[in-house]
Amino acid sequence: MKKKKPNYKLRRQMAKIILIVIVLTPIIFINKTKIFNAPLYITNIKYSKVIDSMFEVDYNKEKIKDTLNYLKEKKKINSNTANYILKIHNLGYSNNVIDYIIRNLNKKQITDFLARKYNKDFEEYIKSNLFLYKKYDRYLAYQKNHKKLDIDDVVTQIELNLDKTYYDDSVLIKNPDSIDTLANKYLEIPEDYEPSDLVDMDDDYANNMYGQKKLRKEAYDKFVEMCEASRKDGVNFYAESAYRSYDYQNTIYKNYVREHGQEEADKFAAKPGFSEHELGLSIDLANIWTITTKGEEYKWLSKNAYKYGYIIRYKEEWEDITGYAAEAWHIRYVGIKNATMIHKKNITYEEYYIKYIANKK
Ligand SMILES: [Zn+2]
Repeated sequence: MKKKKPNYKLRRQMAKIILIVIVLTPIIFINKTKIFNAPLYITNIKYSKVIDSMFEVDYNKEKIKDTLNYLKEKKKINSNTANYILKIHNLGYSNNVIDYIIRNLNKKQITDFLARKYNKDFEEYIKSNLFLYKKYDRYLAYQKNHKKLDIDDVVTQIELNLDKTYYDDSVLIKNPDSIDTLANKYLEIPEDYEPSDLVDMDDDYANNMYGQKKLRKEAYDKFVEMCEASRKDGVNFYAESAYRSYDYQNTIYKNYVREHGQEEADKFAAKPGFSEHELGLSIDLANIWTITTKGEEYKWLSKNAYKYGYIIRYKEEWEDITGYAAEAWHIRYVGIKNATMIHKKNITYEEYYIKYIANKK
């Protein structure tokens, strides 16, 4: 019996089709955005990608309108959003700003934003992690009075309420027991707060002549380690003042006011409720004489304190932010991890706290 001849024609056809598919698939895939026209391409993606694609191909206003109308018809965005996108674009803002506004602002805020003139700094403002539109007017007012600050500093300092009146506009601290708590003239320690783990400081590390010095356990243990290490290097210091109760701070403050007057006192002494010493984590150091920035104690501390979780809290260049005149003798325990980062960044505890601690809570 004669064998049936294979259908070569059909096989050739099949091979051709397979070849075409193999060659074309990656080309179509890679050039998807170029092959199809943009509106078709963007129907299945979110609006931010829509904007991206519009700007990528440098659409003119008419084309943007077309695209937005198309999306409205397809119910991919509503007409409000489409109007906003167009208006923000017409004000002169970038894709980033449009995206930020549509995602983060409510209707009232968008209306407010659209009533304002173009501000080139807005592009910078939204880059700051701490930026909140509801504080925009405060940023602008603060920026006017602090022209040398960059935008990120403006946002950070508003977050610290530095545009408000210290003491009067202060807020009560919720977590005074936390090792990393920030206390300053804007953040008040509750009057009835007393750390539960205060320990007596040994005479080797504190001047107990005028009353027993106390510190929170963790801070004290690290302080002892630090003193031992410094003494090995031939540098001596001890605690002249450590934990202070609200009442004790009140006495100190009142004495200062009596001696120097209110204005002077406010520069050097804290009102009760506003001294870090009430947290049981701060120490004023001495070495018979007062510690100064020129002394070997300060130099040793600048180099080594962070290894024991301590930071020098008040420096001259930080006075505008901390609200306190420089104190070379005042150190604060914040834990080794925080102290190490602060040492590396060389920034105030205020800035560190608001950027790296409060922001994560
Ligand atoms: Zn102090």
